[in-house]
Amino acid sequence: SKKVVIIGAGGVGRVVAHKCAQVPEVFGEIVLASRTKAKCDAIAAEIDREIITESVDADNVAETVALLKKYQPDLLINVALPYQDLTLMEACLEAGVDYMDTANYEPKDDPRFSYEYQWPYHNKFVDAKRMALLGSGFDPGVTNVFCAYAQKHLFDEIHTVDIIDANAGDHGLPFATNFNPEINIREITAKGRYWQEGEWKETEPMEVHQTFNFPHPEVADREIYLLYHEEMESLCKHLKGIKRLRFWMTFSPNYINHLNVLQNVGMTAIEPVDFQGQQIAPLEFLKAVLPDPGSLGPLTKGKTCIGCVFDGIKDGERKQYYIYNICDHQECYAEVKSQAISYTTGVPAMIGAKMMLTEKWKKDGVFNMEQFDPDPFMDDLNKYGLPWQVVDGKPFLDQLLAKNP
Ligand code: NDP
Repeated sequence: SKKVVIIGAGGVGRVVAHKCAQVPEVFGEIVLASRTKAKCDAIAAEIDREIITESVDADNVAETVALLKKYQPDLLINVALPYQDLTLMEACLEAGVDYMDTANYEPKDDPRFSYEYQWPYHNKFVDAKRMALLGSGFDPGVTNVFCAYAQKHLFDEIHTVDIIDANAGDHGLPFATNFNPEINIREITAKGRYWQEGEWKETEPMEVHQTFNFPHPEVADREIYLLYHEEMESLCKHLKGIKRLRFWMTFSPNYINHLNVLQNVGMTAIEPVDFQGQQIAPLEFLKAVLPDPGSLGPLTKGKTCIGCVFDGIKDGERKQYYIYNICDHQECYAEVKSQAISYTTGVPAMIGAKMMLTEKWKKDGVFNMEQFDPDPFMDDLNKYGLPWQVVDGKPFLDQLLAKNP
């Protein structure tokens, strides 16, 4: 069995640590390191296996290399923040360790997350005979694997994909983001973007939206908003014949109201302002006063539904399919002390790591999820807590086309 170092002890780090610990035949030794060691210790105390804990500043390459040299793991699982992706990739190259993450790099001073920063590391990883797997969460991650599965088994040509992410959970608080508020707010205050006929089309933030009737009665009718999301950047390259890719996410009217007010008063800005002689980024300050997403776990009830609606051709006939997962917040909390948002990210992170460590997915270089065989990953989703279904996609595509053709 193998050794992993997990970096990051937030909501996702907690789930990854729990899930890796449940698979000792693959994850023989687990080191959990983060900026604040006490958070690692708190997670380790919940788990019935030895978890080694360390503190590390993942922005510091030399410090991370020293940690990696001390433990000599087979893989580093990065579930810190997107800002740490490049320093952690550098550290992995220097220490000779494989790399995996769940979100693409974003410069702190420029909210333009893109694979353009990480893809150029491909040749360095090839030369070092190391592998980097990018985006092994749910979206990106499982959504990319759903696409690879559809391409392999359901279609000869996929023409359109609509990725739809619904969180129908309720935490009972007036306002809270369900993962890192800074990353979440940066994502949804940005312009919307979708890919069509070979180019990106831009919309105003949250401009395009519609009601969508989900395939589960506890999710039912929700307003979905078109956003840019990072998996489209790799999928538009890797899905052959693809004509359109869109990404949609649900938000409640209450969430939108709060967000509008915060934005109107300037609290979502990332440029620092001078406050009594100190430079403070409003969004970072906002993060400090909002509820810690980790504290929502015991409060959140309800379900998530994330999946992809496909339209394309099979054996000369037009076909539609919808592949999705339903996840229950309270069941996740009972299992790993986290709500479904962290769970749906952390389980695929464990599975991606398992694919690498068991060499089911093994290549030198930097890769996205859809570049590998989806079958063993899809099997593991069923096995480790994120079962999926494939249903006729026509009624779902028709709803989208009726409003936003
Ligand atoms: P949290 O904010 O809850 O946790 C982040 C953790 O990283 C904290 O423990 C934090 O430490 C640690 N960290 C931050 N900076 C450093 C640093 N310089 N060195 C060491 N540790 C550091 O975030 P989440 O757990 O919610 O998210 C983790 C990642 O997962 C993010 O990249 C996020 O974008 C991604 N994600 C991906 C999704 C997907 O579906 N693909 C969905 C949701 C999230 P401290 O507490 O001390 O600050």
